[in-house]
Amino acid sequence: MAIIIWHRRDLRIDDHPALARGVELGKEIIGVFTFDPQILRGGMTGTAQVSFMLACLRELQQNYRQLGSDLWLFMGDAVEVLSQLAQELPASVLLFNQDVEPYALKRDRTVTEALQNLGIKVESFLDISLINPRAIATQLGDPYRVFTPFWRNWSSLPKPQPYARPVKILGLANQPDLPGRIGLPSLADLGFAGHDLELPIAGEAAAQQLLQDFCQPLRLLRYQEQRNFPAIAGTSGLSPHLRFGTVGIRRVWAEAIAIQPLIQSNEAQESLQTWQQELAWREFYQHVLLYFPELEQRAYRPQMQRFVWDQDQDRFRAWCAGKTGFPIVDAAMRQLNQTGWMHNRCRMIVASFLTKDLLLNWQWGEKYFMQNLVDGDLAANNGGWQWSASSGMDPKPLRIFNPAAQAKKFDPQAEYIRQYLPEIAKLRDVELISGNIHPQKCRALGYPQPIVSHEQQQKVFKQRYAEAKL
Ligand code: FAD
Repeated sequence: MAIIIWHRRDLRIDDHPALARGVELGKEIIGVFTFDPQILRGGMTGTAQVSFMLACLRELQQNYRQLGSDLWLFMGDAVEVLSQLAQELPASVLLFNQDVEPYALKRDRTVTEALQNLGIKVESFLDISLINPRAIATQLGDPYRVFTPFWRNWSSLPKPQPYARPVKILGLANQPDLPGRIGLPSLADLGFAGHDLELPIAGEAAAQQLLQDFCQPLRLLRYQEQRNFPAIAGTSGLSPHLRFGTVGIRRVWAEAIAIQPLIQSNEAQESLQTWQQELAWREFYQHVLLYFPELEQRAYRPQMQRFVWDQDQDRFRAWCAGKTGFPIVDAAMRQLNQTGWMHNRCRMIVASFLTKDLLLNWQWGEKYFMQNLVDGDLAANNGGWQWSASSGMDPKPLRIFNPAAQAKKFDPQAEYIRQYLPEIAKLRDVELISGNIHPQKCRALGYPQPIVSHEQQQKVFKQRYAEAKL
């Protein structure tokens, strides 16, 4: 009787709790991944992400084969696929790593029940985070709603060690001919267009390389000073890998703390802590999504559920295309459209701009991000958007970014702006940073003039915000 390891957002071999357990049980193992048409057609993913995922799956399948087993691919409803597979193999155990998203939780409950009814043992494992999102609570036993106390508790808790990378995975002696098994599909097979995006390299080997490169004193210990400048590679770039689980979070933590003996200054210590805090933000948003699944559908704060948004599709299209006439905003949107990734500082700038300057619903931006980001993740993306829109759990929510002030502070030589807006790259720094470009120059260079006035729009935002409070 075989063991099925059901992979979902954990496309790796190393530091993998379910696989480690399977190997420990000492039986034949088969890895399984199911393409879920509901997710693929649900409008909350896109070419960048699916393309990255396919490349991860290709590598995972090779890794399984090298270690003596295989990864089988299927298309369809997970309950049907896994029930049928478990009976035909036959399998005695299903192992998988837990998720926190509402859809995944429901699916996993249904799969667990269906397989248990067939007499199959089902075990699931904490994998997505260092600290179990169900096990962390306020002193009153409630879920957290504010990051700082969450962080205080989270940072004081012991963190688990990584699971060892298996050296061998016992494969099936007899390979049954299974209906429904598919080869690795193409993007087109899955209903996505081809692309010329400059995506990050996918897979476990690439993730390990990024992690090693980042956990060097010159990078990790300068994070505090460099992380806000989008023209510098001052952050880890690990987000797509954490999204698809091509690296285990325990491995990430272990590599980061291994640098501790090299720390010789307060600044270096702060850098390490600030990066650890970002990992904690990721877990905070997972925790709140688990306890407040309604965040997926609506604003957390009632005031922002009542807020009256504009419906201007032309402005939304200009924002998506990076053609608003605000250079820092446009550079950031073009980075997203060209690479499937955007720097965190710029995510905050464009999200503030969409909501506070264009007065458009944050959910439009949230969806566009999910369709275009390679690291698009419901918990982190929804958290980031609700924070930016003043609709989330932030205790001091009313925050409006001035695009020119942000550019001046974080792209002072307009290097990032020039990189993504070649049509205006020859203009002076001051024009690129302020966005104050003579209309004639704009026309000649084919760059739009600002589509709104920041001063006016923020007044309108504040007025509507006050009205929604009543
Ligand atoms: P690093 O700075 O190296 O941080 C390390 C890791 O910590 C990241 O890989 C990520 O997993 C996590 N992390 C860092 N910052 C945050 C944060 N603010 N919230 C949650 N986790 C964080 N991140 C996503 O992974 N997916 C998203 O869909 C996503 N959407 C966002 C939308 C908005 C509007 C905003 C403001 C932020 C969003 N973020 C999202 C968070 C953040 O921008 C990215 O995680 C970060 O830019 C990834 O780059 P990095 O891997 O180099 O990060």
